[in-house]
Amino acid sequence: MNKRYPFLDLGTVNAEYADALKAAACRVIDSGRYVGGHENEAFEKELADVTGTAFAIGVSNGLDALRLIFKAYIALGRLNPGDEVLVPANTYIASVLAVTDSGLSPVFVEPDPTTLNLDTSLIEQAITPQTRAILTVHLYGRACYDQAMAEAARRHELLIVEDNAQAIGADAEHRSPQGTTRTGALGDAAAFSFYPTKNIGALGDAGAVTTSDPDLASAVRALANYGSTSRYHNVYEGYNCRLDPIQAAFLRAKLPYIEKECSRRRRLAHIYDTKIDNPAVVKPLMTAPDRCVWHQYVVRTAKRGQFMDYLAENGVGTDIHYAVPPHRQPCYSRYAGLELPVTERLASEIVSLPISACTSETDAAEIAHIINSFRP
Ligand SMILES: *Cc1c(COP(=O)(O)O)cnc(C)c1O
Repeated sequence: MNKRYPFLDLGTVNAEYADALKAAACRVIDSGRYVGGHENEAFEKELADVTGTAFAIGVSNGLDALRLIFKAYIALGRLNPGDEVLVPANTYIASVLAVTDSGLSPVFVEPDPTTLNLDTSLIEQAITPQTRAILTVHLYGRACYDQAMAEAARRHELLIVEDNAQAIGADAEHRSPQGTTRTGALGDAAAFSFYPTKNIGALGDAGAVTTSDPDLASAVRALANYGSTSRYHNVYEGYNCRLDPIQAAFLRAKLPYIEKECSRRRRLAHIYDTKIDNPAVVKPLMTAPDRCVWHQYVVRTAKRGQFMDYLAENGVGTDIHYAVPPHRQPCYSRYAGLELPVTERLASEIVSLPISACTSETDAAEIAHIINSFRP
């Protein structure tokens, strides 16, 4: 296949930052400090500033960030094993893995087919006396937070945990009770992933937790470091889920360009939206397009196989996020009987188009032109 329009090429993404990344690596090598230290502290402060939270804690990856949040709430007695957590049925499996790994019980909520995010009008009916939290996932870079979610959380005293792996820099249209709109600062705690393919990617695994709750911040920090609050004093049965300082240094090189990265993606989304015109292809909702950070630009088509083959023949790389929903995975056979028709239909129709730094505005216009000639 000719790769005229690659879906994503990480070498190209990072080439733009090469000088700063090399300087960051040298700084860490020369520092003599390879766990914790200045790079981590500076990164945490910079991430908390960008997000608008009191605390940020660098951790090993996005899944660990989510696991640490749930385990910290359990350690603090704010959640108990067996409690129910509402989760979107349409998400990456890591969101659900964090819930079940912590001994909590996921309750899958169907997506709104227009936003592809959890349908917040279904929250009330999904709540039972066992429900204690909502795990909201800002999927594809679009904030999943509104009046209905905030109201339900307030009325039923639910924690709101954000899976912000795909939406760093995004904003919700609805203002939270604490007056924020930025994802990562909307709920009680949020998990970030800096997996290399995310909008701000490390050069390896990396993640973070943000919160403005000092007790949660301390518990997460301790749990990520053997459960230790000070040297030789272990208050929790903890883990080793620390962020490497070399990744913190790499992330510090990229974090200042977050607005530039977001606006580049917004321009590409705008080009796709204005130029793609094919009745066989459903484009994503453009409500508040400048609050969305377009981690993926996901279109839908009933003829997905044919569409992806056609694009491949024309040199356009595509991907599917995600072809198999969590409740249909072999590891979750206990949920296989659930009826989640909207999720399953989406999983069979969605296609992600190229939207990274490898795609120029000219490329996006040409890709739209190729799509317009698709005849299923
Ligand atoms: C990437 C991702 C994760 C997991 O992050 P890792 O750093 O890969 O562990 C969790 N949730 C969502 C929605 C993701 O996209």
